[in-house]
Amino acid sequence: MEDFEQFRAAYPQAKREAGTRARAAFEAALQKAPLATLLAALEQHKRSEQWEIPRYIPAMTYWLLGEHWTRTLREAAPPEPITPIGLSPADQAQRWRSLSPQEQLRRMGYTKPEPPRCPRCGSYAWVYKGDRQVCADCGQ
Ligand SMILES: [Zn+2]
Repeated sequence: MEDFEQFRAAYPQAKREAGTRARAAFEAALQKAPLATLLAALEQHKRSEQWEIPRYIPAMTYWLLGEHWTRTLREAAPPEPITPIGLSPADQAQRWRSLSPQEQLRRMGYTKPEPPRCPRCGSYAWVYKGDRQVCADCGQ
């Protein structure tokens, strides 16, 4: 896969961009840092608290132009053990109920289901062609 497409596919779909401006921003970034550095920073940002909220994820071009790969974001805390030691079952149950539904899911090891990806190019973008769903990026 081409470098730009590889980076683009790794970027959260909601803020992924294509086109001349995005490509130019990517090429400019590559003059300053290798692709591996960009991808590693991107993976770190994807684990951050900030990026758990989609509207706080910067647009792809903005991320590149702002040299966001030089930043390390605070990562979301790992889930606590499900059963706290030393609590009675009643206390455990109460404590469990006091958690938000989101936190309960997290502690049960539930992670957001991955949206389906194109087997050919790894894109998450799909469009309908007639009644068939095809990849928006490569047409597979
Ligand atoms: Zn594809």
